Amino acid sequence: MLNKSGFGSTSMSQSLPQQMDADDPLRLVRGQFILPPGEIYLDGNSLGPLLIAVQERLQHTIDTQWGQGLIRSWNESWIELPQRVARKLAPVVGASPADLICADSVSINLFKILSASLSLSPERTTILSLTDMFPTDLYIAEGLSALVGADRCRLKLIEYAELDAVLNSQLGSQINVLMMSQVNFRTGEAYDLPRITQLAHLAGVRVLWDLSHSAGVLPVNLVENKIDFAVGCGYKFLNGGPGAPAFLYVNHELQPKLNQPLSGWMGHRAPFEFSPQYEPAPGMDQFLSGTPGILSMSALDAALELWEHIALDAVFEKSQKLTQLFIESVNQAPALNDFNLIKVPVRGSQVSLAHGDAFAISQALIDRGIICDFRAPNLVRFGFSPLYNRYQDILTTVQVLSEIMVSKCFQQAQYQQSGKVT
Ligand SMILES: *Cc1c(COP(=O)(O)O)cnc(C)c1O
Repeated sequence: MLNKSGFGSTSMSQSLPQQMDADDPLRLVRGQFILPPGEIYLDGNSLGPLLIAVQERLQHTIDTQWGQGLIRSWNESWIELPQRVARKLAPVVGASPADLICADSVSINLFKILSASLSLSPERTTILSLTDMFPTDLYIAEGLSALVGADRCRLKLIEYAELDAVLNSQLGSQINVLMMSQVNFRTGEAYDLPRITQLAHLAGVRVLWDLSHSAGVLPVNLVENKIDFAVGCGYKFLNGGPGAPAFLYVNHELQPKLNQPLSGWMGHRAPFEFSPQYEPAPGMDQFLSGTPGILSMSALDAALELWEHIALDAVFEKSQKLTQLFIESVNQAPALNDFNLIKVPVRGSQVSLAHGDAFAISQALIDRGIICDFRAPNLVRFGFSPLYNRYQDILTTVQVLSEIMVSKCFQQAQYQQSGKVT
């Protein structure tokens, strides 16, 4: 539980956040979530919390649709879920609903898109990415290269600082697709999506953006920025629940030219004709593979309803204010001098603090009801969701962290033990 000693005192830096909360246009959204009392949840970039609407929907899906409707529920609502989720998500990522589909995991969708893009332009054999992108993205490209051979698919990893030069170099003509996350999962850096996309297009390179850490918190505008491909996670800032299905976007003009290799029956033009020959469905439906997990997809569908009533500008603005307030408060806290705050030019909705004892410190925070996470080798990572985090939460977090550093309680043996998931 939180130690709130000193909280609510009247110094400037502590009364201001309360006023900011009172003025927050999103302040009532928090009430739609089920949040454990007495805790501060700063891990919504890893697993979004439970919405009341999701809890109710799952109950309905289980009791009424599965329990009573049984197989009839496929026609009543289940079979349309991948498209229905896409319709709700479309305004959040600036896409037309027809160019999005909900399916599978990010990893699997990356495989579909990378394969299809390589087949479309086989003379360009390189997938370009950055060394510090989320590992599953890189692993999938490595797996694809091993499957089709390095003469047809090769992953090239560079540092962000090299990107312009590599795209403009001779190598540019070999690059098929640039695969990048809009937000770096370690540092929180938000990359300049419009600029990088334009630069890649000038080199004839298609761009695949991974929106796992940005959908639902940063402006994306897939259509306006002429993005070729995008994928993203349903269980982070979109709050679809653990293992929620992912989404996939393909530019309208590219859709008829692509063939993806996981040609399961749900992507068939007419799955219930049970024809021995695969014929892809038109549009985004061909990116479906097998039967979706209906419990998970129903949860995501219910979670996305919230966005109908939310101004995206307000979400983005609050995200920036939350991170700024956190950074200012950390910089002003003398007990936190030992941390190295990872600075980035433009930020997504997260801040990372580097420290040699980051793991133990993250455990001590969690033990005190401040749920953050640890990213190897030395980062304590704080994710801020404008939908339910409050400005006061930031001050409390910095205060509890200061207490941990002053007391050095993180050195206790109980905080050194790591689980499988960090
Ligand atoms: C969370 C995350 C993923 C997760 O991929 P899954 O296959 O859905 O587990 C992928 N990429 C990025 C950038 C992520 O942040």
